[in-house]
Amino acid sequence: AEPTTGMPLPEMHEVETVRRQLQERVAGRRITWVEVRDDKFTSPDAPPAVVADLEGRRIRAVERRGKYLLLPLDSGDVFVMHLRMTGSLRWWPGAPDPDERFVRAVFTLDDGSTLTFADMRRFGRGWILPADDPDPEGYWAARVGVEPLEPGFTPEVLAGLIDGRRGPIKAVLLNQALVAGLGNIYADEALFSARIHPERPAGSLDAGEVARLHEGIRERLALAVDSGGSSIDTYRDSLGGSGSMQDRLRVHLREGHACPRCGDTVVKTRVAQRGTYLCPTCQVA
Ligand code: ZN
Repeated sequence: AEPTTGMPLPEMHEVETVRRQLQERVAGRRITWVEVRDDKFTSPDAPPAVVADLEGRRIRAVERRGKYLLLPLDSGDVFVMHLRMTGSLRWWPGAPDPDERFVRAVFTLDDGSTLTFADMRRFGRGWILPADDPDPEGYWAARVGVEPLEPGFTPEVLAGLIDGRRGPIKAVLLNQALVAGLGNIYADEALFSARIHPERPAGSLDAGEVARLHEGIRERLALAVDSGGSSIDTYRDSLGGSGSMQDRLRVHLREGHACPRCGDTVVKTRVAQRGTYLCPTCQVA
């Protein structure tokens, strides 16, 4: 079931914001101590197995694949985390705030700084992708699709992804195995930018519409990354900031407000089991 309001769903750009902040602060640091407070965080592995692979290792970088955060270690292993519905990763210059709620794991680094993984609904996970995995590229190819902010994401690539698909274009955009990290908010915003109704059969888009949609996805996501997050309710980045993107949403969560392009009233409907916002004049079915 889709959370209507109040449930933060980390979107790709929010994970990217966290990645950039952590790259500056934890890349090069050694993990000195790991405390897993909730066994579910490492499930199906037991916490001691994961902790043993982390303690004493140096973090080489902070990377991202779709909505997955990756910490490649000097052992060759990669520590992977996924925030899922309500997870957040917070960096602290010293010990974490003892009042921080829902903390599932604490990582202490060699400069005394700490990372906390907090998660109210406990769907978030951390696990090791081992150095001897025979096919890491295959591992990721099966999990995340094309990265919409990478140069390889062209109108032709987008056309190839949607070609022949009869499902609604919004459902195709939300399929993480096709387009990595595009969530409900930016699917709505990109379709509005492109003036395409979310229920249009994906394969029915002509070349001009595909080009507009490609531009809409790139432009809205880039803007979102620059503004640091969407600030949907409880979303927080790794420094506790909330971002300013909510002020820039044009249709999402704006039911009953005037369309910023034509002045008609934004409506809410459901597409692909998700609350969906659109302008009935700009986005004709
Ligand atoms: Zn409009």
